[in-house]
Amino acid sequence: MARAPYKRVHKHGKGRGNELTVICSYCGKKVPKYKTFTQIRSVNVLDASMRKEMSRNNVMIPSSKLHVCLSCARHRKISQPLKSRKSKRKA
Ligand SMILES: [Zn+2]
Repeated sequence: MARAPYKRVHKHGKGRGNELTVICSYCGKKVPKYKTFTQIRSVNVLDASMRKEMSRNNVMIPSSKLHVCLSCARHRKISQPLKSRKSKRKA
């Protein structure tokens, strides 16, 4: 989860030219990797007894890394625009 007032960092890779592109897991758009937000989603185990057993047996709960593009991140409230920018607009 990105921190709420995030600073957008467009850091390019070291290499020049072709950059690593990732497919957004929500909209399926191709986005350069440095523009994406990563979100770690773990599978929810709803059954309480199952969860207990899993923790007892030290079973790793499977988690998947999601790459979210900027527009999806904004839409799904994974990221929020900087607060200072908002306050400027209001004033
Ligand atoms: Zn997207």
